[in-house]
Amino acid sequence: MSRFFSARYADLTPYTPGEQPQNRVYLKLNTNESPFPPSPGVAAAVEAQSRNLALYSDPECVKLRAKMAQVYGLEPDQVMMGNGSDEVLNLAFMAFADEAHPLAFADVTYGFYPVFAQVNHIPYTEISLKEDFSLDPADYIGVNKTVVIANPNAPTGLYLPLGDIERIVKSNPDNVVIVDEAYIDFGGESAVTLLDRCKNLLVVGTFSKSRSMAGARLGFGFGSPKLIADLNTLRYSTNPYNINRMTDAAGLAALEENGYYMNNCQIIIENRVWFTEQLRRLGFRVLDSQTNFVFAESPKIAGGELYRQLKENGILVRHFEKDRLTNFNRITIGTREQMQTLINKIAEIMEENDHENC
Ligand SMILES: *Cc1c(COP(=O)(O)O)cnc(C)c1O
Repeated sequence: MSRFFSARYADLTPYTPGEQPQNRVYLKLNTNESPFPPSPGVAAAVEAQSRNLALYSDPECVKLRAKMAQVYGLEPDQVMMGNGSDEVLNLAFMAFADEAHPLAFADVTYGFYPVFAQVNHIPYTEISLKEDFSLDPADYIGVNKTVVIANPNAPTGLYLPLGDIERIVKSNPDNVVIVDEAYIDFGGESAVTLLDRCKNLLVVGTFSKSRSMAGARLGFGFGSPKLIADLNTLRYSTNPYNINRMTDAAGLAALEENGYYMNNCQIIIENRVWFTEQLRRLGFRVLDSQTNFVFAESPKIAGGELYRQLKENGILVRHFEKDRLTNFNRITIGTREQMQTLINKIAEIMEENDHENC
């Protein structure tokens, strides 16, 4: 830390992104990216816009928001686009949480929530998930705080039924409830349908997972026109051109080929079901995932050990050094071939491990 760094941030622990190694080619199953490339129209759209980079992008993303509204059954003024959903979440924390409206989120959830809270000096409470990592809606009913729920949750993959989300939203009428739906296209039911009835609901989503565009940085927020206007006040106070020309065009092209992405999600779901079964056959405990990853532990090998041995063998998964999570690994679901390669390697490691132990 330099002696110039503001004391305001002296205690800040930044978010640790998953490894993005540039030195060797790994089978990369650690950051929940899609194994499929963007649809053909995306490359063409990016190429076309690359010639217009001398000009600023559209700060209102008029075309993209109109298309988003059409795809999701909303009005354009219910939509805000962000530089990844991380930006939308940060702006939402800034806009809707403070001393009078402190944050509440799970103790095991997306690791960025406490960081966004700290950087904005917003007080927060972490509510423990149950022993089986499920979220008890009762803990959030009438909690009278700005609630943030990743649904489905990460890194557990567990999904909370929409009825529970609705009860939580309705029981906190004086606070915004933020539902982070980064993984909703892999099996859950979106809270978008509640927006008509619930003016204190903000739904956040991303093109990073189900739409193969993690590198383009495109996320979105859905809410009442008033909530969206508040977010825009802060966006125009920080970075009005937050969506660059290439990403804007890529997003529009992707939505025009939305069927391609939704079909890919079906393939991922099938691979997840298959891979879960394979892991369970090897004696793993695998949580019920509605996402493009699984969270799994084995009674026979420590999570960190499996992570290290896989990495030595050119396969990256995500391991968290956090008390309740250390025996687990979070494994992104890729193509069937990738999952076959991984399961073969895990079986091999387990077998070697067995021999060493007897
Ligand atoms: C990946 C992820 C995000 C962030 O996605 P970006 O749009 O790439 O910023 C947000 N929330 C959760 C729960 C995620 O897993």
